[in-house]
Amino acid sequence: VTFSSLGLIGPLVQACTALNYTRPTPIQVAAIPPALEGKDVIGLAETGSGKTAAFALPILQKLWDDPKPFFCVVLAPTRELAYQISQQFEALGSTIGVRCAVLIGGVKMVPQAVALSKRPHIIVATPGRLQDHLENTKGFSLRGLKYLVMDEADRLLDLDFGPIIDKLLKVIPRERNTMLFSATMTTKVGNLQRACLKNPVKVEV
Ligand code: AMP
Repeated sequence: VTFSSLGLIGPLVQACTALNYTRPTPIQVAAIPPALEGKDVIGLAETGSGKTAAFALPILQKLWDDPKPFFCVVLAPTRELAYQISQQFEALGSTIGVRCAVLIGGVKMVPQAVALSKRPHIIVATPGRLQDHLENTKGFSLRGLKYLVMDEADRLLDLDFGPIIDKLLKVIPRERNTMLFSATMTTKVGNLQRACLKNPVKVEV
């Protein structure tokens, strides 16, 4: 299996080659084709499996087809993970000119508001700070959002981000795609899945 046989466009295959990704990992083989078909995906996979590229590559391809600001929000449980996800989006999307912003707590709002004013395609955020910007940053809304990703959903829920995610779901379009990744399938993750995903394809590695 190659990245190009999964249906990825040339610029994204080139980005994988440049990063020395010689072949797709099992979670990428399982998740990329249904995501490119426009399906919602639930992925059960650990860190280290290549799960970030498994959602980033199909989202970047959809962005290439329809390059709009505030195209995708990725929710992550920690600041470090948010940074790592954003770095992978930037590396994989360098060939298509992707713009990313990271919204995390513990740092000033203003530089993040400036980053939002540049109309990034991809926002990687911890839930509390995203909510803070939605309430306080003028001109920022997610009315045109096409993709929502919840990474490490089990940890998001363990950290009690559930109520903030519920609020977020009220201000983003119902007409969107959603991808949820989690190391474990818990009752809470199952409930979140039912609240957010439509007829998801489940991929497990
Ligand atoms: P993740 O599971 O998303 O945290 O990825 C773990 C690490 O694997 C990251 O450093 C990625 O850059 C790297 N990686 C992702 N996909 C591949 C691949 N197909 N081949 C080699 N390395 C990869």
